[in-house]
Amino acid sequence: MSYFYGPVPSRRLGFSLGVNLTPKKFCTLDCIYCQLGRTTKKTIKRFFYVEIIEFKKELAKIINNNPKIDYISISGSGEPTLHKRLDKIIDAIKDVANNKYPVSVITNSSLLYKKEVRQELAGADLIIPSLDAATKKSFSRIDKPHKQITFERTIDGLINLRKEFKGKIWLEIMLLGGINDSLEEARKFKKLVNRIKPDKVQLNLPIRPAGISITLPDYERVKKIKKIIGKKCEIVSSFYKDAQKKFSKSVQEDIRKYLNIRPATMRDLEKSVGLEKGILARQIKRMLDLGLIARKIYNRKVYFICDKAA
Ligand code: SF4
Repeated sequence: MSYFYGPVPSRRLGFSLGVNLTPKKFCTLDCIYCQLGRTTKKTIKRFFYVEIIEFKKELAKIINNNPKIDYISISGSGEPTLHKRLDKIIDAIKDVANNKYPVSVITNSSLLYKKEVRQELAGADLIIPSLDAATKKSFSRIDKPHKQITFERTIDGLINLRKEFKGKIWLEIMLLGGINDSLEEARKFKKLVNRIKPDKVQLNLPIRPAGISITLPDYERVKKIKKIIGKKCEIVSSFYKDAQKKFSKSVQEDIRKYLNIRPATMRDLEKSVGLEKGILARQIKRMLDLGLIARKIYNRKVYFICDKAA
C-alpha cells in the first residue's frame, strides 16, 4: 500500500500531499455523509500501522519529484488518530522534508479527549478538526459514533486541544440541509465555538450524497449561519457553486449506475438513490434535457432508462 496520495489541489491548503495511515474506513464514526461509504471497522483501538523506513523512503521520492507542495496533510481513508504514536509520523515527515513543509492533521475530533492523542499532535503546524453537530441528538444522528465516543467527550477534547496546542486550529463544520443547518443549531454552534476558541471556523458542505437523503443547505441560510458564528467564520470562496456542481454530478452518476442495470420509476429511484423527491426530480429533468437518460411508458407507468447511445 502507498502511504501518500497527490499532491492534490485543495481549496484550503493549496497543493496538499495526503498521508494515509490507516486501512480504508477504519473509523471511530460512521458519518451519514461520508464520501468513502460505510465504516467497515468502527473502533477506538489505536495501532501502529506504518512501516516507518518504507514511509520515509516513499516520502523522499515524492518530494524529489514534486517541487510544489504547500502542506503535507495527515488524513486518509479513515480516522488518522487511530494510528498510534502520531508524533513519530510527524517527526518522520519533518525529518525527510527537512522542515520545509508545514504538516496538517485532518481529524474527526473523536479521540482528542485522550491526552496521549493531543500530545502526539503537538508537532503539527495545523489541525483541522471537524464538528458536525451542536447537540447530542444531531451528533448521534449524523456521526453514528462508536459507543465510547460521546458528544461531551468530543467537545472536551477540542477545548483541551486548544489549551495545549501551539499551532493553528481551523474548526470545520459540515452543514447538511435540513439536519444541522437551522438557525437555532447555528446559535448553539456559536456557543461551542466560543468555548473551543479555534483560529477560524470553516463551513463545509457535502459534495457527494451518501446512502440517505442528504441535501445542500440553501446558500442564503449558509450566509446567515456564517453571520451568527461570527467573524472567525468563513465559507471558502466558490465553495458553494463547486459543491453544487460536484453534488449534481455524483447524483447523476448514481442514477445512471442504477439505470444501467434496470429501468426504474421515480419511486424506484427515490428508494435506491436515497434522495428527496424534489431534488431527484430536478436531476432527472436535467438528465433528460441532456439526453443522458430517456423516458418510456410501459403498462401506463413512466420508466426511466439509461440511453447508452447518449
Ligand atoms: S469521520 Fe470521516 S472517514 Fe470517518 S465516517 Fe466520518 S467522514 Fe467518513
